[in-house]
Amino acid sequence: MIFQEEEMDTAAWLAKAGEVLLSTADRPELVMARGEGMRLWDTDGKAYLDFVGGWAVTCLGHAPAVVQEALVRQAGELLMAGPGFYSKPMIELAALLTALSGMDRAFFMSSGAEANEGAIKLARKYGAKRLGGAHEIVTVRGGFHGRTLATMAATGKPQWAGLFAPKPEGFVHVPLNDSAALEAAVGPHSCAVMLELVQGEGGVHAVDPAYLQALRRLCDERGLMLIYDEIQTGIGRTGKMFAFEHYGIEADAMTLGKGLGGGFPVSALLVKEKFDLFEPGDQGGTYTNGPLAAAAALAVVREVMRLNLPAHAAAMGEKLRSGLAKLAERHGLQRIRGLGLLCAFDLPAPVSAAFTAACLDAGLLVNAPGPRTTRLVPPLIAGEADIERMLEIADDVLGGMQLQAGEESA
Ligand SMILES: *Cc1c(COP(=O)(O)O)cnc(C)c1O
Repeated sequence: MIFQEEEMDTAAWLAKAGEVLLSTADRPELVMARGEGMRLWDTDGKAYLDFVGGWAVTCLGHAPAVVQEALVRQAGELLMAGPGFYSKPMIELAALLTALSGMDRAFFMSSGAEANEGAIKLARKYGAKRLGGAHEIVTVRGGFHGRTLATMAATGKPQWAGLFAPKPEGFVHVPLNDSAALEAAVGPHSCAVMLELVQGEGGVHAVDPAYLQALRRLCDERGLMLIYDEIQTGIGRTGKMFAFEHYGIEADAMTLGKGLGGGFPVSALLVKEKFDLFEPGDQGGTYTNGPLAAAAALAVVREVMRLNLPAHAAAMGEKLRSGLAKLAERHGLQRIRGLGLLCAFDLPAPVSAAFTAACLDAGLLVNAPGPRTTRLVPPLIAGEADIERMLEIADDVLGGMQLQAGEESA
């Protein structure tokens, strides 16, 4: 032990944190200690109703028994054999996810960015092998694909433009739901289009069905690979197992992460047979296809199916949005939107950071992806009582803030 636990109060933990951790985030002055179901507790014993869910990750809530059991069982049986061997869990998970998604083949990694990086490499491989060296990938403005160099370049946030130069080239960004701009952006160097069906980090903006139809048609005509980033939308989040089921339009490849492990780091690249193009050595990694991660994901996906959580998320999402519509009458909330339990609204002034902080004080976790925007991505197990409690706290907090349109951020 480095610290004598009994001598460490919250202030002491925070003081240490300020000395020894790389400063990568503005974190609130508290230390999370424990979670169960819809709630987290900090080291002072204060409880928080969690409508962030580790950023759309903890789909089964905190400390789900099925994941605990699966991890303990698998860790006792086979923790790691190395990526050069088959293991039973990786085969089982690949069989389950391909059957559920209509894809044909799977590859497993640890993070969403790593899965998208894999999809980008596969698109380039496809371009090299089948499209005469075409390498450009079209992505959508306001999207989010991760924080490796290539996935930051794919994301194309204006705030990241000058960072970590030189970033990998070959990404073209088009506005969301603009078919003409898409058509204009595709050229002889294009090999793929990659997008989220509902932009998560970008503030919960859905792709129009007509746009997606035009996109699929364009990809078919030009032989481009269509990649869905379902890292945030997959595994029941939007009220279907996968968001593409709302549209009935399939991709050539799809990435999963976040909810797939319910809190255990695991991600997936799923592809159609035609895109089984990597040759030995092209793609790999020490922790790829690991048995422990696959066992966790198997437990999560089976439990999501057993509890019928996609349908539950659809029903609870409706309840949440209708409750927010009532709050809107009193507090001027705008653009209440989303699918299932991927939900957002705008405040009448750019005060989402102050709103998030006031909710935290009141024991409610919400997320602010933009200056006016609040996003709600609770665990998929959220029940009616949790939603009612969330709405009560938000009502009180908004009442206390006395929002007026045009008010400046505190
Ligand atoms: C979170 C997210 C990622 C990145 O996943 P990490 O596990 O953080 O690397 C990529 N795409 C989407 C749509 C995401 O929401």
